[in-house]
Amino acid sequence: MVDGLGNWDWLRLQLLLPNPVLLHLSATKPPQSGFQEDFLGWARSPDRTFSVRTAYQALRDSSVQSANAVWKAIAGFRGQQRIKVFVWLLAKEKLLCNEERVRRHLSSCARCETCGAASESIYHIFRGCPIAVAVWNGLIKRDKWVEFMSLDTMEWIRGNLASNSSFAIDSVDWDLRFGAILWSLWLRRNAMIFDPDNIDLLAVSDRSLWLWKEMQSACALDGLARPNHESRADSLLSSRGSLRSSRAVARWVLPPRDWSKMNVDGARDHSTGLAACGGLIRDHEEFRIFVDPPSFIIPLLQVDCSTDG
Ligand SMILES: [Zn+2]
Repeated sequence: MVDGLGNWDWLRLQLLLPNPVLLHLSATKPPQSGFQEDFLGWARSPDRTFSVRTAYQALRDSSVQSANAVWKAIAGFRGQQRIKVFVWLLAKEKLLCNEERVRRHLSSCARCETCGAASESIYHIFRGCPIAVAVWNGLIKRDKWVEFMSLDTMEWIRGNLASNSSFAIDSVDWDLRFGAILWSLWLRRNAMIFDPDNIDLLAVSDRSLWLWKEMQSACALDGLARPNHESRADSLLSSRGSLRSSRAVARWVLPPRDWSKMNVDGARDHSTGLAACGGLIRDHEEFRIFVDPPSFIIPLLQVDCSTDG
């Protein structure tokens, strides 16, 4: 395929290859007689030979560290526990989006109920659907928009939870806001499918904003507020450590003024199969009661308020 002068033999190649390949070939230097013959090599070793040691290093350096980073970021999430578990499911791509429901033969239609797109994937719910795009738009830095929209799910979650300033214009407690937006998008999507007649008209951005503020207040009360310049993952892990030590003795603590605390419990009788639950809601100076069923109100009234909930 090379002529006597060391150039590509275009007369022969034109007969064998299509034009796009010829154009690509023209930008490549032809093989020379002094060149070593091409062979497949292992990029992790300088001499291109494979070894278990370099393969193990490659594994540790990339996928394992990346996966560990996202789980640590989720574990350190300061918001509500149910949102933390939800984000964990999202990272594992275990949410039952319509695409997944069709794959499991739970549904025959993968369409997005919000915008009518043919396939509602996890990506579509949180980044592809017009509602999601409208929520993120204005919150994400312009120069980071393409990266924000194209990262794979795990890296996307890690990038937003572990660093408040990677993508967000307003970096104040972005990890909480990110979680609040994900949760609000999911609630809105579920309402569209399962309860369209009673869908909350509150916009996703307004709902997430309210949730974000609530979580900020709760974090401030729990002493989990952190300076924004601090590494989020590191600060959260250290704050969790201090929490563990402070929880060595658990007891019920009076909530601060303008806050209420709810303690619930339930039980089931194996012989009859009957179950019941009840609980107490107490503010900083008195308590109110909710029970289910109402006949449990007397036993609950006898609960000593000083005991643990
Ligand atoms: Zn959609």
